[in-house]
Amino acid sequence: MVSKTEEFIELERTWASPNYTPIPVVLSKGEGVYVYDVEGKRYLDCLSAYSAVNQGHCHPKIVEAAEKQLHTLTLTSRAFFNDKLGSFLKRLCEYAGYEMACPMNTGAEAVETGIKVARRWGYRIKGVEKDKAEIIVCENNFHGRTTTIVGFSSDPETYGDFGPATPGFIKIPYGDIEALKNAITPNTVAFLVEPIQGEAGVIVPPEGYLKQAAEICKENNVLLIADEIQTGFGRTGKPFCFMHDDIKPDIVLVGKALGGGIMPISATLGSREIMSVLTSGSHGSTFGGNPLACAVGTAAIDVIEEEKLAERAAELGEYFLGKLQTLPKHVVKEVRGKGLLLAIEFTEEAGKAKPYVLAMKERGLLAKQTHETTIRFAPPLIITKEQIDWAFSVIEEAIKNTAPNWN
Ligand SMILES: *Cc1c(COP(=O)(O)O)cnc(C)c1O
Repeated sequence: MVSKTEEFIELERTWASPNYTPIPVVLSKGEGVYVYDVEGKRYLDCLSAYSAVNQGHCHPKIVEAAEKQLHTLTLTSRAFFNDKLGSFLKRLCEYAGYEMACPMNTGAEAVETGIKVARRWGYRIKGVEKDKAEIIVCENNFHGRTTTIVGFSSDPETYGDFGPATPGFIKIPYGDIEALKNAITPNTVAFLVEPIQGEAGVIVPPEGYLKQAAEICKENNVLLIADEIQTGFGRTGKPFCFMHDDIKPDIVLVGKALGGGIMPISATLGSREIMSVLTSGSHGSTFGGNPLACAVGTAAIDVIEEEKLAERAAELGEYFLGKLQTLPKHVVKEVRGKGLLLAIEFTEEAGKAKPYVLAMKERGLLAKQTHETTIRFAPPLIITKEQIDWAFSVIEEAIKNTAPNWN
């Protein structure tokens, strides 16, 4: 007899293009920090859809806002005004400390918007010669999957055979402030950077990196663009990760948790002067800023604030990190991260991460390896201390039973 799980997996494998290799679990329900599979088994979600579910699955307040709007008005396009967009963007801008925002849907679109804004700003305000604009990016970046964005990826699996790459991007090592200084030319319009590189395996840059980068950008009239799509909305223990460095990037890209785990909502934020380069007709999106998204996004921010999720992430993240640091060093060589964006990296003797991920899944905890030897732990920010205790005991036991070199 084939199980329900096998049936659903077979169906997906037959009909879905094979650009993913999911962990073999079929989910059908979510509530708070937990998800349930089609056999009824419960799991603690330690991925949170790559930090898109910071508020927890099916948060009642966000669901309520969505339901209410669902029966009222869902889509108008930007050909008309709607009664939700202005107040949503006001909420978002005031939460982040910015003057204007361009609403989009996916994270990649927010990145594309940031790139377009920076290039136009370069030509129209900085005075860069036509079609000469350069944007500096970092090695091992992850900014999304559009053709332009994958063109400046350093992962062959991501960019391979999707060329030719869009010109105008210069790659430098992440965390290297000298490299940034050296890469800037009169044609540089922006430095696009993740405050912590999530997909690269939760890579935290050296202390003060972002602050120094902000200074260098300012000195050279270069826009600093912070991609906070994964690190935003409380994940790292502050509303946005750049706030740890007490700086204000010129442009901030947000997505993921802005949608409260319900729908794709993203935005590009900046000053009035910078965002005003997007003149009428020069950019847009049919679904961007739709009333349903605005209602959901507003509720998503409300929940982050009301439930003090950034403060929780700071406190519980430190607690979780401390626990992970007790894992034996000959098995787990490094524990890193900030707030509730954490990762462990296995030693060579301990081997690849995948078997550990599967052992955790068997014991009711869902996480995903990034690259070969790293596992990220990023549970919903509503997680409790008791749930972290439970998660850690499962993680420890799974590793103990899987590692060839525990003893
Ligand atoms: C997920 C992510 C993106 C892309 O977001 P999508 O919604 O998948 O397009 C961009 N930047 C970072 C840092 C991300 O983590």
